[in-house]
Amino acid sequence: MERKPVLCPCCGSRLIDESVTTECNTYEIERNKQKLADFYVKCWKCKKDIAIVMTSKN
Ligand SMILES: [Zn+2]
Repeated sequence: MERKPVLCPCCGSRLIDESVTTECNTYEIERNKQKLADFYVKCWKCKKDIAIVMTSKN
């Protein structure tokens, strides 16, 4: 299974891996609290709360 890393938008650290057919956007929750995301993860490095939004899936 091929995977690609999803990077933290704040510090560029790898948060999770996604499959190569998945596309997603990431943003810092602090900056866009109203927006609904699919996943939420805390960056292990900069400790910021990051939201992940799936944009397409095959
Ligand atoms: Zn980070």
